[in-house]
Amino acid sequence: MKKEFDDRADVYVINTCSVTDNADKECRQLVRRIQRKSPESLVVITGCYAQLKPKEISGIPGVDLVLGAAEKFNIATHLKELTKGDSTRISSCDIEEVSGFHASYSLNDRTRTFLKVQDGCDYGCTFCTIPMARGKSRSDSIDNVIRNAKELAQKGVKEIVLTGVNLGDFGKGVDGAKKAEESFYRLVQELDNVSEIERYRISSIEPNLLSEEIIRTVAGSKKFMPHFHIPLQSGSNEILRLMRRRYQRELYAERVEHIMSLMPHCAIGVDVIVGFPSESDEHFQETFDFLHSLDISYLHVFTYSERDGTKALDIKPVVPVHVRHERNKALRNLSYMKMQYFTEQHRGQTRKVLFEGHQKNGMMEGYTDNYLRISTPYRAEWANQIVDWTIT
Ligand code: SF4
Repeated sequence: MKKEFDDRADVYVINTCSVTDNADKECRQLVRRIQRKSPESLVVITGCYAQLKPKEISGIPGVDLVLGAAEKFNIATHLKELTKGDSTRISSCDIEEVSGFHASYSLNDRTRTFLKVQDGCDYGCTFCTIPMARGKSRSDSIDNVIRNAKELAQKGVKEIVLTGVNLGDFGKGVDGAKKAEESFYRLVQELDNVSEIERYRISSIEPNLLSEEIIRTVAGSKKFMPHFHIPLQSGSNEILRLMRRRYQRELYAERVEHIMSLMPHCAIGVDVIVGFPSESDEHFQETFDFLHSLDISYLHVFTYSERDGTKALDIKPVVPVHVRHERNKALRNLSYMKMQYFTEQHRGQTRKVLFEGHQKNGMMEGYTDNYLRISTPYRAEWANQIVDWTIT
């Protein structure tokens, strides 16, 4: 039976992430908390960090089992062979050997669900450890995604967010080979015809993979929401080249212009990294000015941090940490202004809001089609419903 973390459980599974700066520290803290609360329980560590640093993790006192990317789906079998007090076991293989695809979805709040349709990445961005932790790009089949979407609709889900590590690269089989008949564009087209689901969102898509035909299909769809999240990472072509990104800023600007010409109400979120090695004040200013000029709605700003095994470690000079933080602050301020402006433009408009099922302090929340967050006093008849809402 699944339990809350604060309850006592026989087995604790910690799913680690390599994207957070403090994966190691956070993992140690959690294991210590478990040991204090329930010293006889089994502790299993899995996820990206477990794949990247299995030996390091096995050295944390109290850890019983470390499972890599391929083995995490066999957790039940491993648990049968495990006794508290045995020496820590590691079960992982080289990431090149990881294949297969395991579809999964979250069902915490039935209103909106994240459906994984793709995993792994074949790109080699110099700052990123994800390909080392998740392996080659592979995807579910279109038929299976549609089956899952229909199953979710039967459970009462209204909105599906399509997720993947490199979602736009959808269409590679479980062995990583490209399937001629499957692509992200085809997936979008096919899902659009599933009458049972009311809304889809595309979680994040690389600008070079967000083709004109995908944009056109979303623009003509009643089910795909006018909302894109497109990583930029830098507004300087020189830095993009050092990052080994597969586009230049001109392509990014074209994509944004194309989206806004077809969907002027569309929300566009942008990921950006500040303080990448060799990013000078001039490069940063280029990024700032570029983002300022783009018709986008909000930013997710990441401060660059060094990761073992990445090529970016060889790029010099490094940017002092305090400068990285100053740049982060400048872009967060810009993001706030962009979001204010975007909201302002929609005042007085009536848009469709999908309200979530739960209430907090007597309030309920939901998102408009174009990702404006709405909060209002709880009304049971609106829970998990799409409601016409005038933005004030
Ligand atoms: S495309 Fe994304 S996941 Fe793939 S290497 Fe680049 S940053 Fe990492």
